[in-house]
Amino acid sequence: VSRPEARARVVPKAGAERMMRMRKIIFATGNAGKMKEIRMILDGLAIDGMPAEILSMKEAGLDISIVEDGKSFTENAVIKARAVAEAAKKAGEAAIVLADDSGLEIDYLNKEPGIYSARYLGEETSYHEKNGNLLERLSGVPDEERIARFVCAIACALPDGETLTELATVEGRIGYEEKGENGFGYDPIFIVPEYGRSTAELTEEEKNKISHRGKALRAMKERLAGGWEMESV
Ligand code: IMP
Repeated sequence: VSRPEARARVVPKAGAERMMRMRKIIFATGNAGKMKEIRMILDGLAIDGMPAEILSMKEAGLDISIVEDGKSFTENAVIKARAVAEAAKKAGEAAIVLADDSGLEIDYLNKEPGIYSARYLGEETSYHEKNGNLLERLSGVPDEERIARFVCAIACALPDGETLTELATVEGRIGYEEKGENGFGYDPIFIVPEYGRSTAELTEEEKNKISHRGKALRAMKERLAGGWEMESV
């Protein structure tokens, strides 16, 4: 290959500049742990040919309080995504906004704590107390009636006003005592049958693979990558 030909293959300047541009995605959460998990899962996402840059609300310079008064996980995720998209728009940012809402449903307790998972027994009550209380309410309840699931809804507010949603679950059962040190919230009492361990006994990678949030986020990632990439060709 002669030198001029080799030079001709160099990416044109305009193309190179385009490759450097990033597509901003704001994730509507203030939780640093969640941001870490979300960044791991959305790693490699490109929208309209541009790599996605994932920002927390704080990193995007947005500080708003949102009233989550929806009747379902999906409604609450949509409320959060739309509120943050509106705030971003006011700040002059046409960003894509993602939001999640999640919780634990225990069938024997009529799906409690459900959408109130974070507020169960009051937000200030420790998870050790929340978990202890749930175990107590299930005392004497046999294995087959301890069915539970973690649920996660993800909503995506697009700059054109459209909203996409995904819902995913991980099925399991409530154990008889708290087990494990990993994870957060209700993880120590949630047993995953495939592993025979609580989600607090799984590694980050093991949990991401099977978790409600992992599944819902990966589904949303595919939709964003697929739908938007086609417009750029
Ligand atoms: P959110 O941040 O408003 O979605 O609140 C979700 C609440 O549900 C958390 O505060 C936890 O109590 C519970 N939760 C959701 N996902 C998990 C999980 O993966 N492990 C343990 N608890 C969870």
